[in-house]
Amino acid sequence: MKPLIFKVALPVPLYRLFDYLPPEGVDGALIKPGVRLEVPFGKDTKTAVLIEICEHSELSTDKLKHVLSVLDDKPLLSAKDLQLLQWASHYYHHPLGEVISTAIPNALRQGKAMTIKAEKHYALTELGRTTDSNTLKRSPKQKCVLDKFQSSTLDLSEAELTAWNNHWRPAVTALIRKELVSIELTESVSAESKAIIRNPPLNCNSQQQQAIDSVCQKLGQFGVFLLEGVTGSGKTEVYLQIIQSVLARGQQVLILVPEITLTPQLEDRFKQRFAVDIALSHSNLTDKQRQAAWVQMKQGTCSIMLGTRSALFTPLKNPGLIILDEEHDASFKQQEGFRFSARDIAVVRAKQLHIPVLLGSATPSLESLYNVDKQRYQLLHLPERAGTALAPVLQLMDIRNKRIQEGLSEALVVEMHKTLAKNEQVLLFLNRRGFAPTLICHSCGWVARCQRCDANMVIHFDEAHLKCHHCGQEQALLKQCPACKAGELIPLGLGTERVEKALADIFKDKVTVRLDRDSTQRKGSLENYLQQINVGQVDIILGTQMLAKGHHFPNVTLVAILDVDSGLFSIDFHVAEKLAQMIVQVSGRAGRAEKPGKVIMQTRQPDHPLLVTLIQQGYRSFAKSALQERKAAALPPFSYQALLRVQSVDIKMPQDFFKALAGLIEKHNTGQTQILGPVFAPMARRAGLYRYQLLFQNVRRQELHVLLDALITEIAKLKQAKKVRWSLDVDPVDLY
Ligand code: ADP
Ligand code: ZN
Ligand code: ZN
Repeated sequence: MKPLIFKVALPVPLYRLFDYLPPEGVDGALIKPGVRLEVPFGKDTKTAVLIEICEHSELSTDKLKHVLSVLDDKPLLSAKDLQLLQWASHYYHHPLGEVISTAIPNALRQGKAMTIKAEKHYALTELGRTTDSNTLKRSPKQKCVLDKFQSSTLDLSEAELTAWNNHWRPAVTALIRKELVSIELTESVSAESKAIIRNPPLNCNSQQQQAIDSVCQKLGQFGVFLLEGVTGSGKTEVYLQIIQSVLARGQQVLILVPEITLTPQLEDRFKQRFAVDIALSHSNLTDKQRQAAWVQMKQGTCSIMLGTRSALFTPLKNPGLIILDEEHDASFKQQEGFRFSARDIAVVRAKQLHIPVLLGSATPSLESLYNVDKQRYQLLHLPERAGTALAPVLQLMDIRNKRIQEGLSEALVVEMHKTLAKNEQVLLFLNRRGFAPTLICHSCGWVARCQRCDANMVIHFDEAHLKCHHCGQEQALLKQCPACKAGELIPLGLGTERVEKALADIFKDKVTVRLDRDSTQRKGSLENYLQQINVGQVDIILGTQMLAKGHHFPNVTLVAILDVDSGLFSIDFHVAEKLAQMIVQVSGRAGRAEKPGKVIMQTRQPDHPLLVTLIQQGYRSFAKSALQERKAAALPPFSYQALLRVQSVDIKMPQDFFKALAGLIEKHNTGQTQILGPVFAPMARRAGLYRYQLLFQNVRRQELHVLLDALITEIAKLKQAKKVRWSLDVDPVDLY
């Protein structure tokens, strides 16, 4: 009898499966695909996943090694999970072993057992609820933790505390000793005995109700819904009520958001509404916590998962619904390694599982709007703000020839004074962190450049550093020009740090917080700032794109975008779409409560068609004309693209690669795929590597993929390919 052959996926960057023999003394036929195996690999052992069992191998049996051990009794990945991952591996032309690595948590990838320890939850005691945290002033860490508990209406799990601050444990232990905090044993309550709802739903307006009904009618079937609603129109409320129906059917919900740590308020709203546990999955958790969340969803002991893009692959025992909030957000596309679009795979997964998928946004992506046009997606529209909130008024402020101080025009400063005098908050948006993007010598013109990139070093005065935002290179701030040794060094351009300093001068008695990647690096600092803003301790909020992400600032009535122009000129056709989305998203932060908001955009291009359309006619009209432009130029979504990136420390090496590739393309490109390039990437050198790219484009997706299939197999064998770093990005969202 022929021995059985195990075809396994290994986490290595190779486009193939590996053949092994079953473990010695074990009947291979009893083992199911989807289990993890420990296998010998070179001098090492690795954790593999069994993909299929068959009877042939291209290698002779005596060359094959035996699997060392089987790590799971039951498959870690179901047949459907494997099918989805295989589809993704094929579509994105990425090795299956690495795709699987994205789908399972680190601990399981390393072969750890699937058992999980129940998480402890902590809650305030009666004493803790009534104690003034200022009595703990002498132990600031304990005070900080007590504040955290007192500001959260519910108990906190280990995972939540870790996400908030890695070093919470000693302080919590001290608070337990002082009987201010106690350990809750939530695991003693069984899932069935619990009610689903903690707080009742709101009374919906008719549009919300229509949206809810449309999706609820489709539960148990495939369908894609695009929920388009301006910020504050009540999308989250729609999610919550649909989720309630899904839970009532005993099914699970997967909710994907761009970045959880930036939107702690969303998680809070889920916890306020539902009495069931909510599993979290994002990169700020420990390996153990991510594993626990994953296993709970797989085993069906938890019904709701809130996570970032990789959470999409979490196995579900009783899948009911997938939601993607802020579906237009670029962070749903992974930009390195396995370059997948969580939005697109979510649709494929929902189809496979026969469940609906709900995409929500105030500014839907052009792709999704196009799919609505094509009647592939069903549009649900919430045209108005929920409750009593009014939509903000957008206006362009022409700053040509106007006096301007550190990015703030006089007219804007006047508006700010007016708003602040009413005790309302101002939000300023500038999408550049640091003090200034350029350091230049006043006498000889020397500019501080990154030695490893085609980029200027950005000045960070706070840390007295020059930093490259592309490769992370840092150096001490220079005192003297290294070229002429004489000239004065001048900061050129505007970053958030610089505006912050200007604000301190102009608005002396006002409090400003700056929210950007630098100021919120410490865990918990963003949450602290958000809280200060919400309790009204802050007058001016200044920040980068972090501000465009779903925060509610009810007392903000004036929003200013300091520099819209910098986004208007780009060779990447995606940039206009992103700029329009960003403007609308930032605008949405204003006037959410009863106070109407105003949005001012400072520009030197007051007649720019993009800005004018957006302001006079709104995002939908912008999207319509942008789609027409894309159609005229045969750009996505009217065609399909794949970007081959090639990098090398040597400027010549990629050219040899492209020469060899040209031969392959000639051989295999029997269809109509256009080949654009090779050319230098817009940033030709980054982190010491020269960067080239080649774009494939075809109006027929199938034809493009046939070509890519053929090429990938052969590229992997090219000797020139071994001397460079190359990667393929299918449906790229960023052409840099
Ligand atoms: P979005 O997710 O679209 O930004 P939210 O669901 O967060 O909108 O709703 C914005 C605000 O309006 C929230 O404070 C929410 O509680 C409130 N809200 C939502 N729906 C209703 C409703 N039907 N009636 C009253 N208030 C509502
Ligand atoms: Zn000089
Ligand atoms: Zn650099």
